[in-house]
Amino acid sequence: MAIGDALGATVEFMTPREIAAQFKVHDRIIGGGWLNLQPGQVTDDTTMALALGEAILAAGQVDAHAAADAFDAWMRAKPVDIGSTVRRGLLAYRKTGDPKMPASEHDAGNGAAMRVLPVALATLGEPEKAVRIACRTQAHVTHNNPLSDAATETLALMVQDALRGADKLDLLHAHAHPLTHRHPEFAFRGVRQRLNPSGYIVETVQAVFQALFDTDSFEACLIDVVNRGGDADTTGAIAGMLAGALYGPAGIPWRWLQALDPATHHACKRQAVALTGLRQAG
Ligand code: MG
Ligand code: MG
Repeated sequence: MAIGDALGATVEFMTPREIAAQFKVHDRIIGGGWLNLQPGQVTDDTTMALALGEAILAAGQVDAHAAADAFDAWMRAKPVDIGSTVRRGLLAYRKTGDPKMPASEHDAGNGAAMRVLPVALATLGEPEKAVRIACRTQAHVTHNNPLSDAATETLALMVQDALRGADKLDLLHAHAHPLTHRHPEFAFRGVRQRLNPSGYIVETVQAVFQALFDTDSFEACLIDVVNRGGDADTTGAIAGMLAGALYGPAGIPWRWLQALDPATHHACKRQAVALTGLRQAG
């Protein structure tokens, strides 16, 4: 996830044509972009997920108040980037103390889905219903929307199945197709190739699914999705969490691992181990 974020951030908000003109193919972690990042630096997608993961570890479970407090502390630390729906949700939490936003048709951004990975790791082995509830608990701090919920839960369940050894076809039949069956908005075949995906969760998932199901490696999947531009750090992060679970650590190119900010690399590794051990420890 962190690698996809760091790779994609360079070309966030660019069009595929602009990316091709500047890089031919963008496939190196070099920083820059509109946020003027250091090479290997990650953005809100990764740092919010790490903040959520720490809150889960401290509370021993996915807890709404703990998640909201962690996100609030994260916002106070002046992150390099923050989504508008996330900011609105956290300002509301400061005012009301309620870690659940009211349902909103408009809050269908990808901000809840992009940070769901620690929940997937912490609830590995729990019944599907409990996983879905945990996903929504963290999501509703800022995004309370049926499309965001459906995507967030689907992505977490896909990560879990991939970690248990499911292959690409399994994920397609067990998760991607059922999602598009329940919410036809997410159909990702027969729609125009989803180039330049926005921060709308539907476009994000369409781009990620096209990239994931049309490639056969971690590297190819991430290069495919970030070269579409648009919200490329977030499509990169989400594609990275799925492809990472699917292809395993051996599938991650060495040059990308080496380029990732060392502190981030270390935090992700340490947290992933701790989160997957949470149920056994508890
Ligand atoms: Mg970002
Ligand atoms: Mg983004």
